[in-house]
Formats: sequence, C-alpha cells, structure tokens
Amino acid sequence: MVEQYSCPYCESLFDDKEELSKHIDRIHGDSGILEGSKGN
Ligand SMILES: [Zn+2]
Repeated sequence: MVEQYSCPYCESLFDDKEELSKHIDRIHGDSGILEGSKGN
C-alpha cells in the first residue's frame, strides 16, 4: 500500500511529503495551508 500526497492547489501526486512540500514552495509559493507548516 503506497501512501500518496496530493497537492491542495493542483492535481499533482507525490510519494513523499517532502516532495509535496517542495512542490508547493516552488510552484505555488509559500502558503501555510498544510498543517505543521511554519508557525506564526
Ligand atoms: Zn501543486
């Protein structure tokens, strides 16, 4: 069973949570929409 992470902005899928994080950071900019993001 492979767990995949889907981008909340587009329909991209990632096998790694870090890959998804990098994707969001690079493609969609820095928006702390995911839990566990930078605290404010
Ligand atoms: Zn995306």
